[in-house]
Amino acid sequence: MVKMSDPNLQFFTYAHLPENLQEISKKFAELAKYIDSGLPSNGQSSEAIRHLLRAKDCAVRAKLYKSDQTCMFCGDPVVKQASTFDKNLCGPCWNKNYTKLMQFKGERNE
Ligand SMILES: [Zn+2]
Repeated sequence: MVKMSDPNLQFFTYAHLPENLQEISKKFAELAKYIDSGLPSNGQSSEAIRHLLRAKDCAVRAKLYKSDQTCMFCGDPVVKQASTFDKNLCGPCWNKNYTKLMQFKGERNE
C-alpha cells in the first residue's frame, strides 16, 4: 500500500512567495516533508504537521511585522525593541548610546 501524504503538506509550498519569505517558509517545508515521509503516519505526526503549519505562519508574520513605534533618536520604526528599559529606541541607536543610557538609568535608580 502506498503511503498517502498528509493533506496539509499543500500549505507548505513557498515558490509563490517573495524571496525574503521563501527562505523562512522553506525551512518549515523541509521539516514538514521529513515528518510526513520519515516518521510513522499517525495522529501525532499529523498533529506535528498542523502545529508546524501554524508556526510557519507566525514566523512569516514575524518577518512582515510592522511596528507602530518609531525611534526617538532616528525616527526609524522600532521593529525589535532595543531593551525593556526604553521601548522607543531602535537597536542601532541603543547600541550607539548604550553607555550614556546606562548612566542615565543608574542616576534614575539612585
Ligand atoms: Zn534609532
